[in-house]
Amino acid sequence: MTIMFYKIANKYSKRGIMIDLEKNIQYIKGVGPNRATLLNKLGINTLKDLITYFPREHEDRGKVKEINELMHGEEALICAYPVGRINELRIRKNLMLCKLIVRDETGTCQITWYNQPYLKNVFKSNVRYKFYGRVSRVSGRIEMQSPVYEPEDSNKNTGKIIPIYPLTYNLSQNVIRKIIEAGLSEVNGDLEEVLPQYMLEKYNLYNYNTAIKQIHFPDNFETFNKARTTLAFEELFSMQLALLRLKNKYETNKPGIKFSKEAKMSDVINSLPFKLTKAQLRVLEEIDNDMETSKPMNRLLQGDVGSGKTIVALISAYKAVKSGYQAVIMAPTAILATQHLESFNDILKDSGIRCELLISGITKKKKEAILESLKSGEIDILIGTHAVLEENVIFNKLGLVVTDEQHRFGVRQRSTIVEKGNNPDVLVMTATPIPRTLALILYGDLDISIIDELPPNRKKIETYAVTKGLEQRVNNFIAKNVNEGRQCYVVCPLVEENEEINAKSVMEIYENYQKNIFPNYKVEYLHGKMKQKEKDSIMEEFKNGNIDILISTTVIEVGVNVPNSNIMIIENAERFGLAQLHQLRGRVGRGEYQSYCILKYQGNSQIIRERMKVISSTNDGFIISEKDLELRGTGEFFGTKQHGIPEFKIANLFEDINLLKLVQAIAIEIIGKDPLLEKEENMPLRKLVDEKFKDRIEI
Ligand code: ADP
Ligand code: MG
Repeated sequence: MTIMFYKIANKYSKRGIMIDLEKNIQYIKGVGPNRATLLNKLGINTLKDLITYFPREHEDRGKVKEINELMHGEEALICAYPVGRINELRIRKNLMLCKLIVRDETGTCQITWYNQPYLKNVFKSNVRYKFYGRVSRVSGRIEMQSPVYEPEDSNKNTGKIIPIYPLTYNLSQNVIRKIIEAGLSEVNGDLEEVLPQYMLEKYNLYNYNTAIKQIHFPDNFETFNKARTTLAFEELFSMQLALLRLKNKYETNKPGIKFSKEAKMSDVINSLPFKLTKAQLRVLEEIDNDMETSKPMNRLLQGDVGSGKTIVALISAYKAVKSGYQAVIMAPTAILATQHLESFNDILKDSGIRCELLISGITKKKKEAILESLKSGEIDILIGTHAVLEENVIFNKLGLVVTDEQHRFGVRQRSTIVEKGNNPDVLVMTATPIPRTLALILYGDLDISIIDELPPNRKKIETYAVTKGLEQRVNNFIAKNVNEGRQCYVVCPLVEENEEINAKSVMEIYENYQKNIFPNYKVEYLHGKMKQKEKDSIMEEFKNGNIDILISTTVIEVGVNVPNSNIMIIENAERFGLAQLHQLRGRVGRGEYQSYCILKYQGNSQIIRERMKVISSTNDGFIISEKDLELRGTGEFFGTKQHGIPEFKIANLFEDINLLKLVQAIAIEIIGKDPLLEKEENMPLRKLVDEKFKDRIEI
């Protein structure tokens, strides 16, 4: 699910002055063409982007500390007199230190600056100065490195809470701060309010202008917190409203299909070669209930990789067919669709149910025949890719729509397929486990079922996180397994959103593996820039065991089943989100062989090690997603897009879970009384949602 926030359109102020929020950043005071280019790199193109480029954190340069209470490692503000003059020390040709001793009533502190000879005549011994910088305190000696400074009575660099912005490229914090100040003075408190007045009062929020001002340049941490809450509230609330309204758009008052009570799921369940898990049975009961009532089903089925969602789809389709309807199963790739067809045919062979495959790869003749018998109702279950969305695909009596790995499909595609039936039931399956509390909120437009249990006798995939030094051992390990007849996946690091670079990295790694490491094995590669046909044929070859080692981007992420492959190598694992690592890992461990996932990583930060530890220590996707959220909550950014969670500018789904619950309750209440936000009193909210999401909400 991706939700793209769309720019809030131009706004008129309450005073009737138009603020051009779309104004090109270049024309903001202090910017100009060069800085504009740098700002553009940060995604800041307009005045609106600028004032909503929120600080990463703030430094408290407001509270003066006494020298003797300074702690090692902290950043602090002191107020002190210089003792004597600056002492210059030339260490090397390019390194000159300026040292100055300062004192307050409680002690002395030695300050060091590097290569700043102009400081020499700045400080006067009868003036008190403020210094803000990092403190070191080693065996009683207190020092400060490269502090910012100014006379006691000045308040430019210290004396207040200073915002620190995320990524700035070649812009210094000082410059970006000044530019933001200029932006704020352009809007000058004239931004239009976004939330209704009564909500601001009821929930103790700032008005929009104050919130924007205080988020950048707070008076104190209390006002900052209130500003942050206000903006997070607004961000989460508008998303909730948008989702709920969307849900209402789907839920027309038209009744859906009441599938027959006589069409018993148990008939097919009893014929299966294995026993369903408790979780599968529970989920099927939920679906069965939905199907038998006249309210159209709109259900999300969440289950970890390998938890057995396909069979649930099959059993639901069985019920639909036995009730006299057709079902369609939509998968994101041809291979997956083909795989589904095989397992459907296998299980349904004696049931008299006819399944067919519709993918773009089939011959024209075959396709025509399928379309014909689909229309006449001879085909009961159609399994396919996006190809089933085409206009000429016409069903006789479509009753059930199942989409597999739903984050690959947008809402619009979902509604295209749904419109091919007469209010059919919809089951959306996803292998992205997200914590239930969150799922309830993010998928506000769907009811949720969860398979939280794997079929018995699954071998745990053993996961190891390794650094560069162990490469040789890893390669030996691959060779050993390939010699025993197994196959191996190698997933390349991903470069954010750039298929071009991804492809290049695949080729480099491929060449290294094929030429240098494994010249005697069959190595192949796969990436997003290849034609669908090529990709399919490589995957087919891999499936048939003709490729030993497959180098790939994350395109293999989605549910392919190659039981013979038992090793998953992930290069630069530190660049992936935990949830995605877990998804990738799910490609192995699908057969009888003990499987392994080896995460090659670089870097030694606390958070990287923590993440590697989490993924190595559990195979439970729900635990991993909770952890992922928590770790991302600490400020490190890992693409949420990969996770299926929308990106927020300010809200943090882990820290703000209570706020999220609150806004959801509020949104439910409002939408309950006014399902499509049509009432006069809700116009501001409607406008907020419309402007923010336009038609770009993608779930
Ligand atoms: P996913 O949820 O990832 O789509 P699949 O539906 O592909 O998982 O199921 C993975 C494998 O587990 C399949 O081979 C399927 O036949 C098998 N399977 C599903 N349910 C059970 C069960 N209850 N007991 C044993 N095997 C099962
Ligand atoms: Mg699946």
